[in-house]
Amino acid sequence: MKEILILGFGISGNAAARLALYKGYSVTILDEKTPEVPEDYKLIGNWTPDVAVKQYDLAVISPGISIHSEMAEAVRKSGTPIAGELEFAASDLPCKIVAVTGTNGKTTTTELTTALIQNCGFRCESAGNIGTALSDVALELKEGRRNLDVLVVETSSFQLESMEHYAPFSAAFLNLASDHINRHGSMEGYADAKFRLFRELNRSEENCVINQNLLPAWKKHYPGETPVTFSAVNKADFHFSDGHLCFRGKQIFDWQKCPLEGEHNVENVLAALALLRTVAGDDILFSAPVKQTLSAFAPDKHRLECFAEKNGIRYVDDSKATNPHSVNAALRTVGGDHNVILILGGSDKAMDFSCIANDSDKIKHAVINGHAGARIEEDLKTALPYTRFETFDEAVKAACEKAVPGDVVLLSPACASFDFFSGYKARGNRFQELVNSYLKRNAFHFDN
Ligand code: ADP
Repeated sequence: MKEILILGFGISGNAAARLALYKGYSVTILDEKTPEVPEDYKLIGNWTPDVAVKQYDLAVISPGISIHSEMAEAVRKSGTPIAGELEFAASDLPCKIVAVTGTNGKTTTTELTTALIQNCGFRCESAGNIGTALSDVALELKEGRRNLDVLVVETSSFQLESMEHYAPFSAAFLNLASDHINRHGSMEGYADAKFRLFRELNRSEENCVINQNLLPAWKKHYPGETPVTFSAVNKADFHFSDGHLCFRGKQIFDWQKCPLEGEHNVENVLAALALLRTVAGDDILFSAPVKQTLSAFAPDKHRLECFAEKNGIRYVDDSKATNPHSVNAALRTVGGDHNVILILGGSDKAMDFSCIANDSDKIKHAVINGHAGARIEEDLKTALPYTRFETFDEAVKAACEKAVPGDVVLLSPACASFDFFSGYKARGNRFQELVNSYLKRNAFHFDN
């Protein structure tokens, strides 16, 4: 019986173990903690670098564990080949994989691409970084519990880092900016991980979709090859002209009819259309189902969600903005002339925050908080007026107190949330709760 080692027993590790068992492997789990595991599996818990690892036929690494970690190093030393969870699951998936990566916009684009492909008549779902592990989908397909034509896979740099033979049918790379430098070591390491997505793909078929501004970097990785490009501002295959989304000069859709806002979302939609084209061809771009899907597509919660408006002050929850690049998108979408009270801060990923200063003309005042506070202050102190707070609650209260009619109170933190919260949803919910109770308490004051 073949033996498999699963590194990390979170969502992906659990799913990979189930799939491995189905495929007939004897399964061993390796984890730094001692998770509860079903009795079908062996466990090497409380792992430290002193624990010897024997050779297995294959190891599957979860995205939460770095390929450069001591654990991965110990497995490599044993002579065991390592595959990422996506790669393990995708190896014999009986449907097309359409992959989406980028620093920002992955979830929005994955959801929209899925909706477009579904509404154009294909059996299509999404998986990967968006929530459902690919191994779980693979198992359901293998067991015949459902059938799919296309799976749209949100793919993070953590998942791509370990990729050797992952070959999607088509893929889009949305944008690249500072994020996860603590994991990848440098911007170059982060970019290299992202470009791995196209390594095994059949690149001769107009199946590689990239932001036009990534062309110089693309040429370094894949010289002499031409991807399909998209851009909201420059000439590209999928482009924006006269208020319309266009493909090579032909209008597809009037942007005003789409509920999404902002130039960044124009690019997400153009990328989704480019991916739809890889599955269904050119003509479908101009069809009624595409127009209907784009007219009805609602943005997700905690992404530029305007949840309250009172006395001319708007309150916007963009808790999902976990890097500085997404804050630029937020400021350009909801900001006016120095009217944004911006709530910044959270846990640190060794990112460079200085690009936020590019939109300082939108910022009236920043309230900085959380573990990354000192580094944000360092990067932005000469660029904008700010106050620093220890806690999130204090920062939100100060932001509410500072706002006057015409202002926008914007939570767009540029950081992950793990200093004070379990995730971006909990942070966004806390923000909304604090603002709503502030508005209630100050109702009399505001209403007069
Ligand atoms: P991801 O899955 O990559 O985190 P989301 O679609 O969940 O992407 O959006 C995360 C954050 O990035 C939100 O704050 C959103 O407003 C912002 N965002 C979405 N698309 C883009 C884009 N193309 N460029 C910059 N920021 C974006």
